Amino acid sequence: MDVHSSPALVIAIDGPSGAGKGTVSRVVAERLAYRHVDTGAMYRAVAWLALQRGTDLADAGAVASLAGAATFAFDAGSVTLEGHDVTAAIRTPEIDRAAAVVAQHAPVREVLVERQRGYGRHGGVVMEGRDIGTVVFPGADVKIYLDASASERARRRATDTGHAAGRASGGVTQVARALEERDRADRTRAASPLTLASDALYIDTTDLAVPAVVARVMAAVEAALTRSAR
Ligand code: C5P
Repeated sequence: MDVHSSPALVIAIDGPSGAGKGTVSRVVAERLAYRHVDTGAMYRAVAWLALQRGTDLADAGAVASLAGAATFAFDAGSVTLEGHDVTAAIRTPEIDRAAAVVAQHAPVREVLVERQRGYGRHGGVVMEGRDIGTVVFPGADVKIYLDASASERARRRATDTGHAAGRASGGVTQVARALEERDRADRTRAASPLTLASDALYIDTTDLAVPAVVARVMAAVEAALTRSAR
């Protein structure tokens, strides 16, 4: 089937940090000529703004107001917030921690989930995050859960040149510890914790190269397109 003349699906890609969501989502969106929405970047941008404004990260209401008023723009991998290009500024260990804190607040999530639903309203979107297949789009046409061993995820983060940790000399042990802490927060929080949706396709990417993961996702997409054409 020609994917370029196909219906506009919603493709949800969830999983922990370093599982390969960013790269895989970007490539799949390019292949399908769909929009790619990185929802982690939204939580990161809100955390960055709160720190800039001196807002207490623990103040759920104040952070939710910031999130509601903020103007985001995502374009070809870059993130702009209130007119500032924050692409690099939001990928630092400090923002890793701050984003995981603001993401625990239900009022902040409500605001961002509403915006995310808006981005996917007409389909034609590959959306990556932690709760896309469980909360944002429980009826998504394709649900993928990417995972990898903790050591492999830490290795990827420590060599990610798009993240400050990958350009620093801190070493993989320090990165692994921070990643473990953030994972625990994301999996155990009360509001929309990271969980595997019962109808998601689980892919362990530990020993898989990006093209192999993309091939599996595209096979699931093709199956969904065939179903929707019936
Ligand atoms: O994916 P990324 O590491 O950029 O996400 C940053 C943080 O944002 C995560 O650690 C998580 O706390 C939060 N997040 C979330 N729900 C999403 C996406 C990200 O809670 N859909």
